[in-house]
Amino acid sequence: MNEKKNLLLHICCAPDASVPVPELLAEGWNVIGFFYGSNIHPLDEYQKRLEALKILIQNTKIECEILNYSPEEWLKEVRELENEPEGGRRCEKCFALQLKAGACVAKKLGFENFCTTLTISPHKNVNLINALGTEISKSNGLIWENRIWRKNNGFLRSVRASKEMGLYRQNYCGCCFSIRN
Ligand code: SF4
Repeated sequence: MNEKKNLLLHICCAPDASVPVPELLAEGWNVIGFFYGSNIHPLDEYQKRLEALKILIQNTKIECEILNYSPEEWLKEVRELENEPEGGRRCEKCFALQLKAGACVAKKLGFENFCTTLTISPHKNVNLINALGTEISKSNGLIWENRIWRKNNGFLRSVRASKEMGLYRQNYCGCCFSIRN
């Protein structure tokens, strides 16, 4: 890449960003992170993930926009989807909420390109995530970077990279409903 292009990277959690951030920087992007966080429950879990994010930011030397923590707002948005299984309609809504919030930040910063770390997870529907990202980017005048980070052992590499950085790795997706799984 001759001229550095700006890219807003939606970071679902620090361990999941431990591969995408260095790879995007190595490709020559000017990366700014974006952390939504209001889907995470309870507060002390949110704080642990925020601390991990700060370590990632320090290690990779990127800037990151962090939304105010508003779990009540997130809960309002997923009302009546509480009993959905993980991977169902509640997760689709949750991805869309996070990506829409990220698209607003990208526009505010005057960035053109937008991507997410969500596709590193072996448990998530990467086609759905990239379809949502494409649609949300299009409606906000942005260009979606269609990546599947879990390719080429991406998840395993992220486990190693986050261990090296000493990042806290959670054992559930994030919301109060995912704890029961
Ligand atoms: S399980 Fe994860 S993706 Fe699904 S609604 Fe909860 S936090 Fe969001």
